[in-house]
Amino acid sequence: LIFPLRGIEGLYGIVILGRTVLGNEYTDLERMYVDRLMRFLAVGIQNGMHHLSSITDSKTGLYNHDFFMRRLEEELARCDRHGTTACVLMIDVDRFKRFNDTYGHMTGDIALEALAVELKNAMRTGDAVARFGGEEFCVLAVDCDARGAMEIAERIRTCVENLRIDHDGEELRITISVGLCMLDPRSTAKQLLDDADKALYASKSGGRNRCSFFRPGFLGRATLVRASKPELSGT
Ligand code: GH3
Ligand code: MG
Ligand code: MG
Repeated sequence: LIFPLRGIEGLYGIVILGRTVLGNEYTDLERMYVDRLMRFLAVGIQNGMHHLSSITDSKTGLYNHDFFMRRLEEELARCDRHGTTACVLMIDVDRFKRFNDTYGHMTGDIALEALAVELKNAMRTGDAVARFGGEEFCVLAVDCDARGAMEIAERIRTCVENLRIDHDGEELRITISVGLCMLDPRSTAKQLLDDADKALYASKSGGRNRCSFFRPGFLGRATLVRASKPELSGT
């Protein structure tokens, strides 16, 4: 018996059933049951595809913003319950508007796709890598302390710096700035992203193509103010 698995996007596959164990023909009732079962199977596959597309950013194949927020909230709860540590990396492509203006949006898209591959390759299976929107990306590094996260961030930053994007035989480069913060179960997901964003701002105002870690409290704010006003830093 041959059953096509049909769904919205067309044919998902074909199920072929061999002879019955006893070697006799399938009855009409058995055919009807198997046919119904295959329809359920096709709907199951369809649901899986819908779910995947609802959590995926179509341009890069990474997770999307909404899914990242959900994962972050789950991870906050896990850190609270089990006392584990995790970090968030907020990543932004440097001077990307200029890149687009110079080489065109299509080349810009190729650069974003190449960056997404680097990010995915750099992280472990349990981590979450998402396109947060535009040329901004977020990474959740689980079971990872501040030092480990900084090593990851630097590794990614260096990989991207060494990346070459082909444009009509010319090799183009991009750089990224990164802001990091550690998950604190007393914070909300939004507050954490705000902290990572502040650290990202410090990386931008510190000259771009660098990584900064958010440190809470008055001294942390002072560090960021100094980073954004280099003439005050005295170094
Ligand atoms: P900064 O270093 O301060 O981040 O400068 P920037 O130019 O990267 O920042 P700005 O926010 O001024 O510009 C972001 C640019 O990213 C503008 C927009 O055209 C581009 N961009 C956002 N999403 C996409 C996309 O999906 N594809 C392409 N090609 N460009 C995008
Ligand atoms: Mg941006
Ligand atoms: Mg940018």
